[in-house]
Amino acid sequence: MTSVDFSAYQQLLQELQPRNVKLIAVSKTFPPEAILALYEKGHRDFGENYVQELVSKQKVLPPDIRWHFIGHLQTNKVKHIAPFIHCIQSVDSIRVLQEIDRQAEKYQRIIPVMLQVHIAKETTKFGLDEASLHELLKQHQAWPHARIIGLMGMATFTDNTQVIQSEFHYLKLLFDQLKQTYFSDNPNFSELSMGMSHDYQIAVEEGSTMVRIGSLIFGERKKY
Ligand SMILES: *Cc1c(COP(=O)(O)O)cnc(C)c1O
Repeated sequence: MTSVDFSAYQQLLQELQPRNVKLIAVSKTFPPEAILALYEKGHRDFGENYVQELVSKQKVLPPDIRWHFIGHLQTNKVKHIAPFIHCIQSVDSIRVLQEIDRQAEKYQRIIPVMLQVHIAKETTKFGLDEASLHELLKQHQAWPHARIIGLMGMATFTDNTQVIQSEFHYLKLLFDQLKQTYFSDNPNFSELSMGMSHDYQIAVEEGSTMVRIGSLIFGERKKY
C-alpha cells in the first residue's frame, strides 16, 4: 500500500521555505488517497504527467488543489484540462501554446504556462531548444490567454553531479537572458522550475524557484 512520508515532506519544507522555493508534490501513479493525505497537512500544489489520470483524480479531489501539468502534452488533449489546470509547465511547441491560448479563451480564463527547455543529454526528453524559444517568445503577445510565467527543465539522469549542476546553471543563465530580452517590463516571467527528488538540492543552489518532487514524498513508483 502507498504511504506518504510525512517526515520527508516536513524536512523538504524546512529546506525550501526559507529560500522561497515552492514545492510541487508529483503524484503521478499514486492514488487519490495519497494526495488527500498530503492535502490534509495543508499541501495544495500537485504535479501530474498524464491527462486521463489527472482528469479522473481532479474529479474526486477537493477543488482548491492547484494542479500543475508536467508531462508531455498532446495538442488534442489540452481541452480536457483547460477548464481547471493551475499551470502547464511542459509547453514544448508553438502549436501546443496556441491551443492552450485557444482553449483558455473559450473558458474565459488565463492559463499560466512555463516553457520546457531541453537541457539534458538524453534525446528522449522533450523541450525547446534556444532557437525555438526565441522564435516563440518573439510572438508571445499573440497568445494573451496563455501567460508565460517561466521556464521548466529536467537535467540528465546521472550520478554525475557536475553534469547536473552545469545543466541547471545553463538554464538559470538562459532564464535571466530571456527575462531581460522579452519580459523587462513584465513581472509575470518569474518562475524557474527545476529539481526533482534526486537533484533538487543542486537545482536550489543554482537558482530554482520551484521543485517537483515525487518519490521522496510518495515512495518509489512502479513503471508505467
Ligand atoms: C516524475 C517527474 C518528477 C518527479 O520525479 P521524482 O524523481 O519522483 O521526484 C518531476 N518532474 C517531472 C517532469 C516528472 O515527470
